[in-house]
Amino acid sequence: MAEVYNWQIGREMEYPYPEARPERQWGAVFDLNKCIACQTCSLSCKTTWTNNEGQEHMFWNNVETKPYGSYPLGWDQEILDRLGVQEWGSDGVYDGDTIFEVRDFDWESMAMDDDPDTMHSEGIEGYIPEDEDWAQPNLGEDEPAGEAVESDTHIEEDHHPTWFFYLPRVCNHCTFAACAGGCPVQAIYKRQEDGIVLLDEESCQSFQECVRACPYGKSIYNPVEMNSQKCVGCYPKVEQGLVPQCFENCLGKIRMHGWVNRPDQADPSAPVDYLVHEAEVALPLYPQLGLEPNVYYIPPINVPTDYLYQMFGPGVEEAQETYRKARRGDEEYRKLRGVIQLMGSTEWRIEEFEVTEEEAIGYDKDGHTVARVPMEEPRYERDRFDDQHDAYRLDIT
Ligand code: SF4
Ligand code: SF4
Ligand code: SF4
Repeated sequence: MAEVYNWQIGREMEYPYPEARPERQWGAVFDLNKCIACQTCSLSCKTTWTNNEGQEHMFWNNVETKPYGSYPLGWDQEILDRLGVQEWGSDGVYDGDTIFEVRDFDWESMAMDDDPDTMHSEGIEGYIPEDEDWAQPNLGEDEPAGEAVESDTHIEEDHHPTWFFYLPRVCNHCTFAACAGGCPVQAIYKRQEDGIVLLDEESCQSFQECVRACPYGKSIYNPVEMNSQKCVGCYPKVEQGLVPQCFENCLGKIRMHGWVNRPDQADPSAPVDYLVHEAEVALPLYPQLGLEPNVYYIPPINVPTDYLYQMFGPGVEEAQETYRKARRGDEEYRKLRGVIQLMGSTEWRIEEFEVTEEEAIGYDKDGHTVARVPMEEPRYERDRFDDQHDAYRLDIT
């Protein structure tokens, strides 16, 4: 057992292994205001990585509708119920238990050896989904929550009375990966060079302790191969300076891949660090679980803050407000608008960016320009009400 510092919850916490951060950490930001649930990302991963026998139920990238969609079925409800009370202090420190703490396990007595009877995951809260929980990845799609509204109603308020949103998910390549912490034979490891969490299928002995331990449902058992499998972060592309397959193919251009640092080492000229640490507009998914996940989300601005607070933690209201201001065109938020414009603009990883009067520009690690997008596009705005057809227009630009 070790005490490690998890900056997302603002405190030290228990974890099965000592803190060992990689040289660089694979990271991502997804803008939930732009996802259209086209599932192109899901299919691009499926056709690349999980199209073999035994992988039919596997979606390393999935997109679920919130609040009612989930894959595997009910994953977040299940783990949040097991976590108990989850409260944050006014100082941004998480006061509840993480999944490594809730069982009050005596980690000191845990021998660090290869004995499969030594089940680290006994000390990690989790569960193994049933087979049928993987069977319907799109259940609940487009089901709204909130109050019904009359048709033809135009909503001016920030939060919509009827709402849902799409949540795309991949493995978070967590800093404190529960899948690795739970594996009794150390078949899962984090790469030093990029922080990608990989599962060595030859070492895997089918205990499924990673499936039990990953609260995000991103380690999945293959009953034909008889081993567990997970997202590989598209490491062959990442090694070449390219973005992962599900990022490159994202139709809504909602994704940015890049390196993410701890707050005290953040580089504001790098897009992911800028969005997470400087603009503070991108937040981790369920940080209270304690894994320090490295996929960050720009929360949807039309969804009630109460719901998002549980999902993204205490910074969510400020993140929504910042995004609204950037969207309105406030000059102060020009840099933020620029980096959002750069999302999905190139197959290359943008290591640095700058925003000028006319455009946002992305550079690769050698300083070569790999993306260039205009800050303003010509725009024609129509009246909200269409007199000819006696109807409100949904799209006026
Ligand atoms: S999301 Fe799950 S599978 Fe991925 S690194 Fe974290 S614990 Fe492991
Ligand atoms: S990063 Fe690669 S392996 Fe992971 S979900 Fe996306 S396409 Fe699949
Ligand atoms: S491809 Fe992009 S826009 Fe389409 S569902 Fe995936 S994340 Fe959303």
